[in-house]
Amino acid sequence: MTLAPPPLRNDCFALPAGVDWTPVDVALDHLRQNLTAVTAVESVSLAASLGRVLAEDVFAARSNPPQANTAVDGYGFAGPIGDGPQVLPLTDGRAAAGLAYEGEVAAGQAIRILTGAALPSGVDTVILEEDVSREGAEIAFHGPLKTGANTRKAGEDAAAGDLILSKGRVITPADLALASATGVSELPVRQLLRVGVLSTGDELVEPGEPAAAGQIYDANRPMLLGLLTRMGFVAVDLGKAPDDRAALRNRLDRAATQVDVILTSGGASAGDEDHMSALLRESGAMQQWRIALKPGRPLALGLWQGVPVFGLPGNPVAAMVCTLIFARPAMGLMAGARWLEPQGFDLPAAFQKRKKPGRREYLRARVRDGEVEVFKSEGSGRVSSLSWAEGLVELADGAATIQTGDPVRFIPYASFGL
Ligand code: AMP
Ligand code: MG
Repeated sequence: MTLAPPPLRNDCFALPAGVDWTPVDVALDHLRQNLTAVTAVESVSLAASLGRVLAEDVFAARSNPPQANTAVDGYGFAGPIGDGPQVLPLTDGRAAAGLAYEGEVAAGQAIRILTGAALPSGVDTVILEEDVSREGAEIAFHGPLKTGANTRKAGEDAAAGDLILSKGRVITPADLALASATGVSELPVRQLLRVGVLSTGDELVEPGEPAAAGQIYDANRPMLLGLLTRMGFVAVDLGKAPDDRAALRNRLDRAATQVDVILTSGGASAGDEDHMSALLRESGAMQQWRIALKPGRPLALGLWQGVPVFGLPGNPVAAMVCTLIFARPAMGLMAGARWLEPQGFDLPAAFQKRKKPGRREYLRARVRDGEVEVFKSEGSGRVSSLSWAEGLVELADGAATIQTGDPVRFIPYASFGL
């Protein structure tokens, strides 16, 4: 069964009127309120569900453990056991994992029992084999022992009917263990979000091609395709388009039939050659987002034939930061996931900086010896800085003076799903 959700609303990217520089949090809130899942739901085996977005809440089909069992190798009997030396006769036979002991263990008797074995009838308490001396058909040990010692209760991990995995979660290896242990063999997941990447600019040449003076190799497309793959989307290479409105229109028309979301880079500002923003404006569902963010020139967001387009800045640093901060959580919602909030950590700065008020800043950073280092230059064309860094430092919107040793918020690339 696959179920296609309704399309996005035409005004999903319309920011409140009258705001000039939109704070990052306002822009994020707007995306959070207005975007919904666009991918269909299907049921797949556990093995196929790793990394997929869960489409519905999932409940335990069976309790884990299914019956009370022993947590250790030893001897089982009825508790409690009083203080002082004890001697108990042994019942014939034993209880082992997967081999239920069918008989009844009489009061005052003990049975050999191995880790994971269901507790036989008449047994609710187990003593560790290391604490017991055995001779023939008798065991001796010291009390006291509480009822239930060294055992696991039925359903103590999860009871049948308990919520085990909630809708919007991205399935992890541990989730597969939990689903399997509780008797679930298939999961309802979203189909993968297909995201196309298009580079724009007359100056761009493909890796391996000869580059004339004034031309540059396309850095954004391999980066964006890589980011999307790591984030768990299907990355679709849409190639590059020249700075020509008709050609670009053509490419977008074709892309809109192939993918769920389009990321473009370049041409997103308001200049003569900024055809991306011009075309999206023409399509009627375009917003020029002037976000109070460094690095990040205006971001052009719009729908092209119903398909959301993120017109990212051309500068590679700004393109990556905008993708991590804006496009990722937005695409997450469209993929059916919960709002993705990257986990940051406060660590001492190994740098000094004065920051102006009025905009959020992200610095390329990494952690060495428990301190946060930042790249030597803040230039937004520095592709090497992205490769050098292992995460971003987030500086809040207000003014700040950071001294060496002050706590700063470091967000590892891993927190963005990379
Ligand atoms: P634009 O936003 O088109 O004005 O581009 C801003 C800057 O980013 C210019 O220096 C472009 O040459 C550069 N740029 C645009 N697209 C790419 C790309 N795909 N790879 C590397 N640099 C790019
Ligand atoms: Mg350009």
